Amino acid sequence: MSSRGRMLNTGSGPSFMPVDIKHPDYVCLLEPNTAFWSLVKKDALAQTLQDETFIAAYMAKAKVFADEMANLRFGLGLSAVYVNPTARCNLNCTYCYIPEDMRQRGARMSAENLHKAMEILKDYFKSKLPQGRIPQIIFHGAEPMLESKIVFSAIETYKDDFRFGIQTNGTMLDSTAVEFIKNAGIGIGLSLDASNAAIADSTRKTWQGESVFAKTLAAMELLQGYEGMNVICTVTKENMAQLEETVNFFHNNKVSTIMLNMIRCTQPASRTIKPVDDEVFPYFEKAIRRTQQLYHETGHKVVVANFANILISILAPTARRLMCDISPCGGGRVFFALGPEGGMYPCSEFIGLEEFCGGNLFHDDIDDVLSSKAFRMVTGRQVEDISPCRQCAIRHFCGAPCPAEAYTMNGGMDKTGAFCEFYEEQVRLAFRIIAEEAENDFLWDGWDKGTTILFDAGQL
Ligand code: SF4
Ligand code: SF4
Repeated sequence: MSSRGRMLNTGSGPSFMPVDIKHPDYVCLLEPNTAFWSLVKKDALAQTLQDETFIAAYMAKAKVFADEMANLRFGLGLSAVYVNPTARCNLNCTYCYIPEDMRQRGARMSAENLHKAMEILKDYFKSKLPQGRIPQIIFHGAEPMLESKIVFSAIETYKDDFRFGIQTNGTMLDSTAVEFIKNAGIGIGLSLDASNAAIADSTRKTWQGESVFAKTLAAMELLQGYEGMNVICTVTKENMAQLEETVNFFHNNKVSTIMLNMIRCTQPASRTIKPVDDEVFPYFEKAIRRTQQLYHETGHKVVVANFANILISILAPTARRLMCDISPCGGGRVFFALGPEGGMYPCSEFIGLEEFCGGNLFHDDIDDVLSSKAFRMVTGRQVEDISPCRQCAIRHFCGAPCPAEAYTMNGGMDKTGAFCEFYEEQVRLAFRIIAEEAENDFLWDGWDKGTTILFDAGQL
């Protein structure tokens, strides 16, 4: 007799998988395709598996969940562009995804071409986005503040047409630049990997090997208390043991949003400082727990945005803000990256990989580029085509990032990226926190009201 959807895991019934979240009392019961989940007391698991009310409640909503997931994965349109006004950088960080030669001698965008690019993008978004929806431009790098004059001028000119962000190493920000940024309400991300120069300098320094720690710290102090600031800490085997101290340091400096991003391993040099998944995770968990402890002690919350995004992807998938941990990721569909000569790439992570250049903004039609072979390689990458992701219960909370890593490090788009085991543990931690009903300790106040979409601009 057919189950007619009345029983789990057979016939037309939904497929629920129990997932061990390493919690003393709870196990997670997960329907992987729709990412619907329920935390179930371990001693009630068998009973839940045959609970007709639970199954009927899920079945009544299954289509809504499936549609929501499909829209997130395939229905979102382009709403942001990462603009690289220069390929050059004043620093030589070990893990940069832009090849060294480009960073030293690469192209720079002229003021005229930046203006031209903004006009093209303005017209494009006007024709595509619903009225009132403002697209986003993030000046990104290499180091965009090497071209601060033309960047600030573009922001002035187009302030009514776009929301702006800048991702910078912070070494070139003086008080005038900071005042401009604050007055214009621009989102700004700084990159700083540790609370002390010795460790921070091990991965981020000038071409001459000089420390830039003091300069970045000075910029962070100038921006202290500014709501639009966040700080990205790239986690490597050099700084992983210091993550808890790094959280203390950002907390002392009144930073409200940080990212503790696992290093992207797209370029070979990054792999020399890649931490091992099960060695780095305990440090990461301690750092996450430290933010909670500090929040309880002082009332000042340091939100770790990349972890908060995992929590949000579990609690309310459509409210997530970062687009690396969904498959396909946001690269090439929700945003693209623009090189200084007009080259269009699915994401900044691909800028050093010429085969991923889908066309040129100054010569080609944007929609044609979005559907180019180069872009489709990224936008067509789905967890269902990757082993072991296709059978992984948490695949829609992980997304198997990052396609650039999968391609260069592991040999193809149908491979996982650099940190599968870390991502598994991260999702378990998120579920443990939900089981403790402590999620709000880790999320922005009003997190469910905004739906700004960004990607982990973690490698600057
Ligand atoms: S960093 Fe990688 S996973 Fe994230 S959006 Fe870019 S290509 Fe996708
Ligand atoms: S990368 Fe690992 S954790 Fe992520 S979906 Fe694939 S198998 Fe699951």
